[in-house]
Amino acid sequence: MKTTTRVCVIGGGVVGVSVLYHLTKLGWSDVMLVERSELTSGSTWHAAGGFHTLNGDTNMAALQGYTIRLYKELEEITGMSCGLHHVGGITLADNKDRFDMLLAERAKHRYMGLETEIVGPEEIAKIAPITNLNGILGALYDPLDGHLDPSGTTHAYAKAARMGGATIETHVMVRETNPRADGTWDVVTDKGTIHAEHVVNAGGLWAREVGAMAGVYLPLHPMEHQYIVTDEIAEIYERDNEHPHVMDPAGESYLRQEGRGLCIGFYEQPCRPWAVDGTPWNFGHELLPDDFDKIGESIEFAYKRFPVLERAGVKSVIHGPFTFAPDGNPLVGPVPGLRNYWSACGVMAGFSQGGGVGLMLAQWMTTGECERDVSAMDVARFGDWISPGYTLPKVIENYQKRFSVSYPNEELPAARPNRTTPMFDIFDGMGAVWGAQYGLEVVNYFAAPDEPRFETPSFRRSNAWEATAREVKAVREAVGINEVQNFGKYEVRGANARDWLDRIMAGRIPKIGRLSLTPMLSPQGRLIGDFTISCLADDWFQLTASYGAQAYHTRWFEQNAQDGVTVRNVSDALTGFQIAGPNARKVLDAVTRDPTDLKFLDVRSMTIGMTSCLVQRVSYTAGLGYEIYCEPVAQRQVWHTLWTAGQDHGMKPFGMRAMMSLRLDKFFGSWLSEFSPDYTAAETGMDRFIAWSQNVDFIGRAAAEAERATPPNRVLCAFEVDAGDADVNAYEPIWVDGVVQGFCTSGGYSHHAGKSIALGLIPRAHAQDGQKAQIEILGEMRDATLITTPLYDADGGQMRG
Ligand SMILES: Cc1cc2nc3c(=O)[nH]c(=O)nc-3n(C[C@H](O)[C@H](O)[C@H](O)COP(=O)(O)OP(=O)(O)OC[C@H]3O[C@@H](n4cnc5c(N)ncnc54)[C@H](O)[C@@H]3O)c2cc1C
Repeated sequence: MKTTTRVCVIGGGVVGVSVLYHLTKLGWSDVMLVERSELTSGSTWHAAGGFHTLNGDTNMAALQGYTIRLYKELEEITGMSCGLHHVGGITLADNKDRFDMLLAERAKHRYMGLETEIVGPEEIAKIAPITNLNGILGALYDPLDGHLDPSGTTHAYAKAARMGGATIETHVMVRETNPRADGTWDVVTDKGTIHAEHVVNAGGLWAREVGAMAGVYLPLHPMEHQYIVTDEIAEIYERDNEHPHVMDPAGESYLRQEGRGLCIGFYEQPCRPWAVDGTPWNFGHELLPDDFDKIGESIEFAYKRFPVLERAGVKSVIHGPFTFAPDGNPLVGPVPGLRNYWSACGVMAGFSQGGGVGLMLAQWMTTGECERDVSAMDVARFGDWISPGYTLPKVIENYQKRFSVSYPNEELPAARPNRTTPMFDIFDGMGAVWGAQYGLEVVNYFAAPDEPRFETPSFRRSNAWEATAREVKAVREAVGINEVQNFGKYEVRGANARDWLDRIMAGRIPKIGRLSLTPMLSPQGRLIGDFTISCLADDWFQLTASYGAQAYHTRWFEQNAQDGVTVRNVSDALTGFQIAGPNARKVLDAVTRDPTDLKFLDVRSMTIGMTSCLVQRVSYTAGLGYEIYCEPVAQRQVWHTLWTAGQDHGMKPFGMRAMMSLRLDKFFGSWLSEFSPDYTAAETGMDRFIAWSQNVDFIGRAAAEAERATPPNRVLCAFEVDAGDADVNAYEPIWVDGVVQGFCTSGGYSHHAGKSIALGLIPRAHAQDGQKAQIEILGEMRDATLITTPLYDADGGQMRG
């Protein structure tokens, strides 16, 4: 066994071998994989081998498409068979919401180049004749759906990796992973120690245990899962061709042909987590005992949907564990807090996602970044607040909701409330309807006493409509107040703080007492942050950005650390409020004896009531607004001061729904919608904040300069949409002259202007005021007009005045 390597991948399941193969494909050949038993010895050997592209996250869906297309390539490279059955598949819809979801998915697939199709009951009867169509409205047909041989595929990946120079050592058990001072690792195994520059944890069922060897907690948990293979069924073996896959979300089942019979698996409600206190090391090629009680109701339902099953005998039952993260997506990327330690685990659909996971991780390792936004599977999407106590109920919820409709406005109930601010009970008493962001309870809106304290999940306008309209009106006509807790906040201090910011941020770093807005770019010029920087002293800055990106941004700051600079994440150590609206200054006047003559983008220390606060004049709601920061221990005092003074000026509290409506009036983008690593500064208009004239070599400068010389083809624009009862959410295709030319990044309803608004990327050639387009919302073509004049405070008079 070799004892030094550039990369040591731990785990020879489908994910580990995919990472290994992709590393060789991208040019790293000094790479090795160690497996404690034979390849496939975790979840991989007993998988049903099904694959499909459907995923609520567009980038995940694209990577699933990549994975499926890769199998042919693997077969060609290795001459081995993956046992591919490209039979196509349908996902049934038995109610309007499910059908809406499929319509929305189909619309997204248009610009992704996925050839899915909506089909009606008559076509379903032809495609999948064993289906009882009672109550079925339609289905989404995907020609890419199919299944394969899990073992053959894993070995094909392994052979392709070996052909690229990789080595694979089986029956080598990793017992410790110890970091050296230079960032490299000693991987201690039962056959000796391997010195590796990088470690990849692809430990699958044992990824928690492997993570613990490096002192990290990876939020994943195994769940039991069961599928049944039937005896021969005449309606199946008498067919001329193989029966396609059928996903029946109402029955929480997936079904496909297996030999001369069928194979059906369930995501049952009475599901069970497995190995809660840790995966035993002696668990190997074995199955869990059959448990028909657990899936009894699902089987009953399946008999009604597919009557042939009732007459078929059971040939075999496969019951085994596999892992999930709290949101069901993989955990991929550099593990925050560690150097050269990478995660490739929590992959619950290894045969749909394994290829994409391998490609993204290999790109990240070899080039420093991925070709697309992988936030949905980034291991840094959870913060250091994550714990096994949170992960377990979330994983159970995720398993149970595997086949549920996912609504854009849905708030999932498990493990809540988790983290709350001192305002929780005060806002709760005022009718707050809560959402969760990065584990934190945030107010979505305030219900009136006679309104339900629950927002109905929907693809269309929800019951939050009236409340949101009231809150928007208060902000536009008087003054609104909400918390600033859910901003990511960082304190940057030290003699080299300004130099460091100059390098890390692309925009201008402000003078003392001032703020600036700036994009943060990756070396390839992708947007990896949009920040507000406040300069409090020559060696003291405060940064604010997205609350959900804390671990992501902290990891980047640590990777680009500099002597003489300390960066502290103070997201939860600083809280406070924003007050916004034409009366905001009157409220400020009433709560302080300090001068309130702050100009737009000023920041200063002020005493609010009894509390020393940091006040900055800036607003995401457009118009006049202030952000007021204080310590959590003082937050309730600051609230009472502001709220009492606000009563004379029409103050009302507002939540995230109103904030997202208000920002549309100025076409302000938001993180992971308009601003994400999928886009560049010039595409999104963020290049206007770049400090070109400063002679500073900020990260991403060369890429940004290149874009400046040759502007990108697509640009972010706003549209007024002739919508019905549904507004744009994200990724709806934008058609111009009957051709899909772009897609929406986000949208919603401007309650102030009474208009449905979409933001989206389209070719520069079409980006002119008045350009006519159509946007496909839930299967309907809606007329849209490109607009360039903001709907509120168009000349910025309110904001700056
Ligand atoms: C019943 C069932 C049906 C399924 N059906 C499907 C399906 O149809 N389609 C689909 O896409 N997915 C399916 N899955 C899920 C799929 O099996 C997993 O997504 C996939 O196998 C995960 O692969 P992995 O490589 O991440 O983990 P694993 O397969 O668990 O591999 C991890 C490997 O790491 C090794 N290892 C761990 N610790 C160490 C150590 N310390 N030293 C050395 N080696 C170590 C283990 O021995 C193991 O081989 C199914 C799962 C189950 C249980």
